[in-house]
Amino acid sequence: MTAKIISGKEIAAAIKLEITAEVRELATNHGFKPLLAVVRVGEDAASAVYVGSKVKTSEEIGMISEHHHLSANATHEQVLKLVEDLNNRREVDGILVQLPLPAQINEKEILEKIDPEKDVDGFHPMNVGRLAQGQKTLAPCTPAGVIEILKRCNIKIAGEHAVIVGRSNIVGKPMAMLLLQENATVTICHSRTKNLAEITSQADILVAAIGRAGFVRGEHIKPGATVIDVGINNVSDQTAARELFGAEDLEKRLKTIETRGFTLVGDVNPREAKEKAGNFTPVPGGVGLLTVAMLMRNTVDAAKSRRLKN
Ligand code: NAP
Repeated sequence: MTAKIISGKEIAAAIKLEITAEVRELATNHGFKPLLAVVRVGEDAASAVYVGSKVKTSEEIGMISEHHHLSANATHEQVLKLVEDLNNRREVDGILVQLPLPAQINEKEILEKIDPEKDVDGFHPMNVGRLAQGQKTLAPCTPAGVIEILKRCNIKIAGEHAVIVGRSNIVGKPMAMLLLQENATVTICHSRTKNLAEITSQADILVAAIGRAGFVRGEHIKPGATVIDVGINNVSDQTAARELFGAEDLEKRLKTIETRGFTLVGDVNPREAKEKAGNFTPVPGGVGLLTVAMLMRNTVDAAKSRRLKN
């Protein structure tokens, strides 16, 4: 079997197009544009790239964005005060604090300070609780993006067995809640799970959110299953790359390692997944592109629910 490769790029583009139209409609008929405020603390290189892409995308779709950048030695109180100010400003619809934060800042306290109505990352305990209760809420962007992929590719969810490898608060757990809401039968696996391959190979939908390059192999995959690869890892070793990529990819990947020093790989071995799965999300070009699109979705939803209440 050769898996159908799902294009995260096409799905993300379609979502962004829909949101652009909604933003235009809000501006024309209701006189406002949603405003996303992004807070970044310190000089983490990956965070700078992620924030840059979030700010750029919000502008592309016609929203207003603010980038609040505090220095690496900002105090906990300074970050808390910034979040409070953003909570109090009526025109701010979404607040995103880019993680990780420097060690002197208590991440949990900062995330809990964000007004749940503006919590576009969906990490506030209030929104996590609503999600667990099956209520409509701002759901974390990456797992919400996975649901969009499944729905837009007409992949059946209700009644199917979905297995998630990973139980983080950012991906694994909310992924389980969202799949449950869609009436899948859900199993969550983690580092203490026994006989992992025995469980994952029963999955109609297998979601890998582990953080280990190419960890999910052919033996973990049921023939014809939909395999969603959430992982983003760097591989810089050419021998490892030979294990991961088939003939159609290998040369390009080896060249990327040569020029950039690494190539991006998910948590699934792409060569083996392509042979065994029915559908497969590639890395790059899969789930990652949906995360920013869903952040835009959440910001527009937050703006509508705050401003069009009555
Ligand atoms: P995380 O917080 O480190 O969680 C990893 C999970 O994998 C944990 O629950 C861990 O189990 C489990 N795990 C680790 N080793 C395992 C093993 N040998 N067998 C079974 N389970 C194992 O990571 P995360 O934040 O969820 O991220 C996961 C991956 O997704 C990373 O590659 C990350 O870069 C990527 N990611 C991508 C996006 C995107 O936009 N595409 C967004 C977020 C994250 P325990 O709980 O038992 O330790």
